[in-house]
Amino acid sequence: METTSKSRRQWAIAAAIAASAVAAPLAQKQPVKPRTPAPANARLEALKKEAADDVDSRAQFSQQMVDQIFSYGELGFQEFETTRYLVDILKQNGFSVQEGVAGIPTAFVATWGSGKPVIALGSDIDCIPQASQKPGVAYHDPIVEGAPGHGEGHNSGQAVNITAAIAVKKIMEREHLPGTLRIWPGTAEELVGSKAYFVRAGLFKDVDIALFTHVDSNFAVSWGAGTGTGLVSVQYSFLGESAHAAANPWRGRSALDAVELMDVGWNFRREHLRLSQRSHDVIVDGGDQPNVVPRTASVWYYFRETDYQHIKELWETGDTMAKAAAMMAGVDLLPEKVLGAAWPQHFNKPVAEATYANIQKVGMPKWSDADQELARGIQKELKNPRIDGLATDLRNALRGPVENNTGGGSDDIGDVSWNVPTVTLRYPANIPGLPGHNWANGISMATPIAHKGVTAGAKVQAMTILDLVMRPELVDQAWDYFRNVQTKDQKYEPLIRPQDEPAIWLNKATMDKYRPEMKKYYYDPSRFKTYLDQLGIKYPTTR
Ligand SMILES: [Zn+2]
Repeated sequence: METTSKSRRQWAIAAAIAASAVAAPLAQKQPVKPRTPAPANARLEALKKEAADDVDSRAQFSQQMVDQIFSYGELGFQEFETTRYLVDILKQNGFSVQEGVAGIPTAFVATWGSGKPVIALGSDIDCIPQASQKPGVAYHDPIVEGAPGHGEGHNSGQAVNITAAIAVKKIMEREHLPGTLRIWPGTAEELVGSKAYFVRAGLFKDVDIALFTHVDSNFAVSWGAGTGTGLVSVQYSFLGESAHAAANPWRGRSALDAVELMDVGWNFRREHLRLSQRSHDVIVDGGDQPNVVPRTASVWYYFRETDYQHIKELWETGDTMAKAAAMMAGVDLLPEKVLGAAWPQHFNKPVAEATYANIQKVGMPKWSDADQELARGIQKELKNPRIDGLATDLRNALRGPVENNTGGGSDDIGDVSWNVPTVTLRYPANIPGLPGHNWANGISMATPIAHKGVTAGAKVQAMTILDLVMRPELVDQAWDYFRNVQTKDQKYEPLIRPQDEPAIWLNKATMDKYRPEMKKYYYDPSRFKTYLDQLGIKYPTTR
């Protein structure tokens, strides 16, 4: 972000000199045309093939990471086992690691290499409440009842990035290619709780390109303003006065009344909000017991909209509701807490196109009959209208800007995408047609479906890293799009306020409650080839 055009040019010259020392003469004579894909480069293509083969040879390494993190099943801000495990692997593989970055104990930045380009490789690591699920079983069957689990598939993305980085690092070392690989975790993504703070802490200041990756049921990459929303996550707390709820109710003022009045008010207002908004809440404190007028109560809202201005407006409406509800209930509104935020995502066109070219080279994994049987089994279990199993072909894998964004989910990679050219590679490691944030989305995530999807995703990621390292013009084109198209009229302004800090206390009580039981099921790769083996699950198990 802060890189000046001067230093960028110097790097491009240095890279060109480094490349000319070893590149095929043919490739050097071909002119650089901005905004069009670079001409075929035989050396680059050969190295991409080598990286893909290397990723294939590390399939067991990738499988172990996927299964291990699945077994940890840690909620946002409590990813202590996951982080310790990843940091160990990265150190063993020559990365230097800075832990506890941006004031978040489970966040880290691992760095290898030197010089430009600086490529940041990120993926989320946290899981979903109450999504504990035995992998490979096509119906609801938790490992630990009520416990969190990887009902989104965030156990797989770090394996994509780390496998790719190790394969490319080997090539960069041998070929003396300049460049820096930086691996970081999407901590507490389900709370959209960390990435705005990473940006604020300057983690992306010297980054040239951010390659993010996220699980899906097919390959995809997009550019421009896509579907989905950004959001602000706000907790409103009220303070009243307790009293005997039967003997002296007139002496009490109920904080819970304010929470309920705010919710009623919000649900009336909902009719008059834009179609693209999404808003939802949970009551995190609703009082203690019915015979005590609740002195305290809290409600936690996600306010989602498709652009920064509308998120701010929705947030202001929420603030007004909270103040009005406090007045109606005769209680005090305490200072609100911002628990997370996300900008709407906007991805980079030249990098998305380069990624798509690599997706086309890699293609979909080869699914077995057992993989398809599991997929159809859960689709039947959920009474889906389509029982079509796993996708075998790429479908609409390169997506451009969306004209009428009708809203949807959010990811705080949006904040990164407005600070440095970014794309998200979606890779096929899950089953189509599932509800999301649900036990069903965990079924495939420690099975051959996820293992094959991660290997395929790592090949694409490795190839795209090589594109960025060996084609300085691609990085220039990415910044040209970022500066002159994406941020021409819209600049990043953080949704988090200067006084906000990462909400690192969230989920602690839940993990404290379930971790002792979950520990019994942590994956032990020294004893079992796969997590399915350890759990003694026949693959697939269907009704
Ligand atoms: Zn996710």
